[in-house]
Amino acid sequence: MAEQFDLVVANGLVTYPEKTILGDIGIRDGRIAKIGKAGKLKGKERIDANGNYVLPGVIDPHTHPVYMDSIEDLAITAAWGGVTTVCHYAYAKPGQSLLKIVQDWKREGNETSCIDFALHGGLFETRKQAEEIPACFKEGVTSFKMFMAYAKLGWMTDDYALTKAMDIIGREGGMACVHAENGLAIDYIQDKLLAEHADFAERFLETSPDLAEAEGVFRAAYLGALMGCPVYIPHVSSRETIDVLIFLKERGMHVYAETCPQYLALTWKELKHLGPLGKVGPAIKTKEDQDALWEGIQIGLFDTLGSDHAPKDKKVEDDFFKAPYGSPQVETMLPVIWHEGVNKGRITPNQLVQLFSERTAEVLGLYPQKGRLEVGSDADIVVFDPKEEWTIAHANQHSKVNYCLYEGKTVLGRVKTVISRGTFVVHEGEFRGNRKHGTFLPTKAGKV
Ligand SMILES: [Zn+2]
Repeated sequence: MAEQFDLVVANGLVTYPEKTILGDIGIRDGRIAKIGKAGKLKGKERIDANGNYVLPGVIDPHTHPVYMDSIEDLAITAAWGGVTTVCHYAYAKPGQSLLKIVQDWKREGNETSCIDFALHGGLFETRKQAEEIPACFKEGVTSFKMFMAYAKLGWMTDDYALTKAMDIIGREGGMACVHAENGLAIDYIQDKLLAEHADFAERFLETSPDLAEAEGVFRAAYLGALMGCPVYIPHVSSRETIDVLIFLKERGMHVYAETCPQYLALTWKELKHLGPLGKVGPAIKTKEDQDALWEGIQIGLFDTLGSDHAPKDKKVEDDFFKAPYGSPQVETMLPVIWHEGVNKGRITPNQLVQLFSERTAEVLGLYPQKGRLEVGSDADIVVFDPKEEWTIAHANQHSKVNYCLYEGKTVLGRVKTVISRGTFVVHEGEFRGNRKHGTFLPTKAGKV
């Protein structure tokens, strides 16, 4: 008698970084049990993926469930976008205990997240909170974010505290995630513009200069090298930084780089009319920067793509200077990058899964449980229809925020089915997830 699986995803274009095959995936007990010839596997349940790509679930290494979307909400909107694992930034604000935040978020995620999740710690009072880093490792959290920027907001970690944290993280065997923009230089520029009563919307790019990002990346990487600590640079936004990353990587520095869909798909020129809605940090810059980021992807400079999903309550008419940074991105990430990347011939579907899944899993230390369609791996699977054309609108998104930066953008390719550890989260246009399903994933970040 033929082997019987719990679920079979049949006849799809099963996509790996190095190849694409036409085949069936057999799932048993939440894991991939077999990958066989198309049309051959038998299951209690079977879905036909004929004509569709079958991708490993997207791993989003950069999410913020503290604004309009809670941990529960963010997991739902992520799942609709084909994301099956998120790594949230658990921010410990000044006066808070980093360890307690990590423990609280683990509990809340285990109780409410419909998809699996991991956590990065986030330090805002680094000299003090750095002492708690070893205890966080015991909780399964091995990557920690600090800000070189936002001095005026009181978020900045100075070089003394950054070096101290990197020393501890390096010894424990993890990874420092650094928002690399020179905060004091940016504050000076902002103060100068304030004194001139400048129009901040008009001059936004001056307050997030590429040179300040490049300087921050260079300094973060060298301080990391000094203390033996791998460094992860989230949300790279500019051409200038590409040159720095090439230099660092050619020297064999232990640096990982992430960029985001907003920098690859939008420019400030296109967003300016939206005022504060398009205010994200670092700024979404120029066409030249966007082209350089795509070139960076093509030469393999980037390890990951992160959404930096940070939906905030903003209106077009709000005061631009006072408006917070951030935008909703997690649900649109895969279709937007498929459209801008694959459909426009900039990358192949294979490069896409390398960036969105396999390499991200490696960087976070989740591989091979996550990140690849392989026997023994978790059955986190996306069925993606490359032929369906649709128009992105806030109305068809699931974030709790009231806008979307891609409003009216027509893309070719849509997420049809999302499976997390063998169970449907999204299928046939319906959300079928369960808030008790998602589980905390301990990481081993920065190893490869
Ligand atoms: Zn962020």
